[in-house]
Amino acid sequence: MNIIESKLQFKGELEKLINENVYFLIIHHIAKEFATIEDIHMWHLEAGYLGCGYNEYIKKDGTVYIGRGNHHGAQCFGHNSDGYGIALEGDFNIETAISNEQYASVIERLKFHKLVFRNIKSIGGHNIFTPTDCPGKYLNVRNIVNDAYKEDKKYHWGMKHLVSLRKKGYKIHDERFDDYITRAEVFAIEDQRRD
Ligand SMILES: [Zn+2]
Repeated sequence: MNIIESKLQFKGELEKLINENVYFLIIHHIAKEFATIEDIHMWHLEAGYLGCGYNEYIKKDGTVYIGRGNHHGAQCFGHNSDGYGIALEGDFNIETAISNEQYASVIERLKFHKLVFRNIKSIGGHNIFTPTDCPGKYLNVRNIVNDAYKEDKKYHWGMKHLVSLRKKGYKIHDERFDDYITRAEVFAIEDQRRD
């Protein structure tokens, strides 16, 4: 995996991310089939940002370009100081598949960032955090996240609670820990709890 430090000129001072305060890894697509990091930088300057808003960018060939890097991004409303945004080349509202190279790189980067940012609480597509169609309906973020952390699963801190709940008679079928909970699931839990 090739990682390139882009030499972008930002229009002002960027604020450093504080590693312990980064709780979210946020996946985007650029909603364009192809672009260079310089193209993105230009679009974001034109949009009135200090420059490329993504912390990093992964091309279809798997090359990783550092954008804002370890600085506050301009990528997800409300999560620019406590989130790290990874943008993928492509428009996954139109393109139905992700290249193997790009897939492999995003997996590697998710693993890496979870080690760097030790307090990560959730990892997901942009649309989990704010109403948007980013990162596209054909990008299966859940599979990506599950693939990235499948080796961690047996060590998950949530396992002891799962085991304990099963002993108490709760029905839990899947040993998955980092998926988002839906409202229906909250209702089901509360309903069981009140039995
Ligand atoms: Zn986005």
